[in-house]
Amino acid sequence: MFDKILIANRGEIALRILRACKELGIATVAVHSTADSDAMHVRLADESVCIGPPPARESYLNIPALLAACEITGADAVHPGYGFLAENARFAEILAEHKISFIGPSPKHIRLMGDKIEAKRTAKKLGIPVVPGSDGGITSDEEALRFARAIGFPVLVKAAAGGGGRGMKVARSEADLSEALSTARSEAKSAFGDDAVYLEKYLSTPRHIEIQVLGDGKGGAVHLGERDCSLQRRHQKVLEESPSPALNAEQRAKIGDIVANAMRELKYLGVGTVEFLYENGEFYFIEMNTRIQVEHPVTEMITGIDLVNEQIRIAAGGAIGFTQKDITFQGHAIECRINAENPATFRPSPGRINHYHPPGGLGVRVDSAVYQGYTIPPYYDSLVGKLIVHGRNRNECLMRIRRALDEYVVDGIETTIPLFRTLVRNPDIADGNYNIHWLEHFLAEGGLSG
Ligand code: ADP
Repeated sequence: MFDKILIANRGEIALRILRACKELGIATVAVHSTADSDAMHVRLADESVCIGPPPARESYLNIPALLAACEITGADAVHPGYGFLAENARFAEILAEHKISFIGPSPKHIRLMGDKIEAKRTAKKLGIPVVPGSDGGITSDEEALRFARAIGFPVLVKAAAGGGGRGMKVARSEADLSEALSTARSEAKSAFGDDAVYLEKYLSTPRHIEIQVLGDGKGGAVHLGERDCSLQRRHQKVLEESPSPALNAEQRAKIGDIVANAMRELKYLGVGTVEFLYENGEFYFIEMNTRIQVEHPVTEMITGIDLVNEQIRIAAGGAIGFTQKDITFQGHAIECRINAENPATFRPSPGRINHYHPPGGLGVRVDSAVYQGYTIPPYYDSLVGKLIVHGRNRNECLMRIRRALDEYVVDGIETTIPLFRTLVRNPDIADGNYNIHWLEHFLAEGGLSG
């Protein structure tokens, strides 16, 4: 097992990792920018190292500074969390060259899944159903038109290096295609420094359903069921739940087994999420994330399994702590991603939290790194915290999350709590009757002010 883990991240996920380390008896090193000197992850870690000024590229993305921090503190492993360097294969390689363990999959698998064209090819080869589209990158408008005619409009132009919903453009008809291609390309170029794009059938009313996996790197793998992340704004997840209201036990086991088998064949190591769109009873692979995800707690709540603990133990060469048969799904869990934003316009609202009172009680979990008197800096994502609620069934979970949201007090900044209070009382959400476009329609019709 590792002696000391350096956490190359900040905010709630740094705290989440710290907690797992403490329970495993592993010493922790926090790193922080000068904007984060007062952050909770710095306060709770055994040691901390300042790695640079506020901009992420000079601190949390600064590989030489992170290496120096490992050297100074004698850390023998690095946990990257999510975002920042979590899916940077080169970072994993550099750590290996310095005999420091990267808590994540092999650089080869990070690279494979980081290129969405390669990821789709691999998924197909491994027997995972994929969205119909161009099997490779699109090099010309003529080629795009040929593919688009073959799969039928509307089509989606997507960036090979994509992430965070960027570099994605819908072409509804032939007339839109050339513009969608050039916009997607230039967006991809500026966001990822890579303008490679590919084409996919645009599914009109799908749900986003993803499967959590865990592999031991030696050909052993299990799945931990699904998360339904269909409530999205700008292709980004807003609320997640498990189990999905759209699946039964048989469908869950079937897709779960397909994915777990694929991970066994790949000899995948660590935690990962295989993402699908789900429409008319069919699953379509869109991508795989080779890291812990923001919404992992909903899976933890219904399985009772600590995913970060498993991730650390497996990275240290340990075995998966259970077999597929041991994994059972109890009750229902929902997560709300609460941001420091105006709940109607989504304008960021960084600043000082004058009064803070998180909800509590049976089945309520708050993963957050803020506290009363804390100032949310303007440099990073606007997550205030994640409210995760568990109930014996979906109905109990909804009742509980309504009262938990009503209890939640964050004063001094604007947050999206009022939006969630409305959403969890909406009849469509209560019935589980929503797809990836539901929230955009709700907001277009007025949202909170409508
Ligand atoms: P990113 O890596 O940018 O997050 P994904 O491929 O994971 O991109 O897709 C993010 C979201 O975009 C999906 O959850 C879905 O809402 C939408 N999306 C992606 N592919 C399609 C598609 N083929 N048809 C319709 N919507 C899609």
